[in-house]
Amino acid sequence: MNTLWQARLNHALQQQKQHLRWRSRIPFEQQGSRYLQYEQQTYLNFSSNDYLGLSSYYHTALDKTRQRGYGNGVSSPLITGHSRAHEALEQQLAQHTGYPRALLFSSGYCANLALLGTLATRHDTIIHDDNNHASLLDGGILSRARHIRYRHRDMGHLQERLTDRSTEHALVVSDSLFSMDGDLAPMTELVNLCEQQQALLIIDDAHGFGVLGERGQGIRAHCQLKAEHIPVYMGTLSKAVGGVGAFVAGSDTLIDYLIQFARPYIYSTSLPTVWVEATVQALHRLQQGDLQQRLQANISYFITQLHNTGLPMIASQTAIQPVLVGTNQCALDMSLWLRNHGIWLTAIRPPTVAEHQARLRITLNAAHQQEDIDTLINALQQAWSLYGQHA
Ligand SMILES: *Cc1c(COP(=O)(O)O)cnc(C)c1O
Repeated sequence: MNTLWQARLNHALQQQKQHLRWRSRIPFEQQGSRYLQYEQQTYLNFSSNDYLGLSSYYHTALDKTRQRGYGNGVSSPLITGHSRAHEALEQQLAQHTGYPRALLFSSGYCANLALLGTLATRHDTIIHDDNNHASLLDGGILSRARHIRYRHRDMGHLQERLTDRSTEHALVVSDSLFSMDGDLAPMTELVNLCEQQQALLIIDDAHGFGVLGERGQGIRAHCQLKAEHIPVYMGTLSKAVGGVGAFVAGSDTLIDYLIQFARPYIYSTSLPTVWVEATVQALHRLQQGDLQQRLQANISYFITQLHNTGLPMIASQTAIQPVLVGTNQCALDMSLWLRNHGIWLTAIRPPTVAEHQARLRITLNAAHQQEDIDTLINALQQAWSLYGQHA
């Protein structure tokens, strides 16, 4: 690399360190739903998106798949990358979420690039909730549409944005369950506003699919909405399903349109067939409904035990329970202290969240035991008294 470029990259890296934003990866030895292992130490895991503890189920599922001797298409879906297994998983996802069709993607990031990048054009307006996931924002950029945001969950503000828009076609985009706060979008109001204003509603249910609804059907079942109310639905296989991949569900027209025109779909290799087969089995396991109940019991227990602890929680009824500590330094100090006491809880810092809103983002899952939650809350109280603003 020549010195001009070297200097630019080095400068950015130094800034990242200076602002306490440096990110490092941890090469774990074992990653279970309940425990992590690193350098021979075992930690309680409160930082994974494996809400139902299904990630470990893939061992069994992949074993079964291997015995049947599936190969892989090793190409994009429009060449030889699509299989009977892909077809079956798509059908089952559509059925489970209550849509006519579904389309598989290799990741949620890719699905969102495809959705926004393909549905919106430079003549349209995309209206985002302020806290939307980065992949939705990036998909919008790919489309070259006009971008505006409304204040988080503020439907009055959204209405203003919709009435003031200068384009005929508008897309309203929101997470269903917000990944950093754990709160839900005001779904009924979103649906009504979009219908009144003829805007297209796109919902990213990455954290709701598999978790919300009695058997994990997602946000739509949870809010008792019809499929037409959420015409464009995105869910991932990388959170509650415990694996990797994602899907878009919707009408025949929507899915046909994406297959014809979505470049991130057309020009990227399909998920491996063996993996898709295993995912079908994980989905069956998820549909039994008992894991969702166990998760819900853990959430309720956690919320009850929080009472009178004085921890600076963001109020949440879901598996995502953020401790809003404020500064990057405090988040890092607390995270390290917890690690030294056997708990893995990653510090979340800007730009993932807004400036001065660094947090410890707890994710509860169905594999946690009540004693794990007791240990966590105890440790958090100690760490907060050592490092919190008042300390
Ligand atoms: C995790 C996540 C994604 C990305 O999904 P991947 O499968 O990890 O690429 C998209 N949207 C939201 C809201 C997410 O939390």
